[in-house]
Amino acid sequence: MGVEANLISLEGDIDVPDELMKYLDILLMGYHEGVMPKDFRSTLQLFGKNMASKYFISLREEMREKNTQAMINAIKKYKIDIITHPGAKVDIDTQKLAKAAKERGTSLEINSSHGYMTVEYVKIAKKEGCKFVINSDAHTPFRVGDFERGIEIAKEAGLTEEDIINAKR
Ligand SMILES: [Zn+2]
Repeated sequence: MGVEANLISLEGDIDVPDELMKYLDILLMGYHEGVMPKDFRSTLQLFGKNMASKYFISLREEMREKNTQAMINAIKKYKIDIITHPGAKVDIDTQKLAKAAKERGTSLEINSSHGYMTVEYVKIAKKEGCKFVINSDAHTPFRVGDFERGIEIAKEAGLTEEDIINAKR
């Protein structure tokens, strides 16, 4: 049993209650809009500012830094197997996140639906030595297991089966 949890605070909190953790075989985590932030501060400082940064260029660098740190905090706080679609929805520093992911044994998702991570980001992350997973992120039953785009990205970035946790060896 697995779940894709939401990042809900700058401190790296996620929206899976602690008492449910023991039932999970796999835990994924990603940034999504329209979730319930942990508190008022997170509503403003994480979700509000990310939304505002779409219109105010001056906020972009700050939010890139904060989003990255929030995700790093999450993988340090919880045993997260996979970060889903890093770089989609909000900007992150791929190199920094990949470095922390490698240290924590967390894989980064190559998302076949969004096309995230891009070839360029996969190359940056690979240099840090982290692992990847290719996911269909299907959203409909018909597209479950449709990894085509993800495989293309992985191949183009020069990944081998060794780099991808759900590839055949
Ligand atoms: Zn997602």
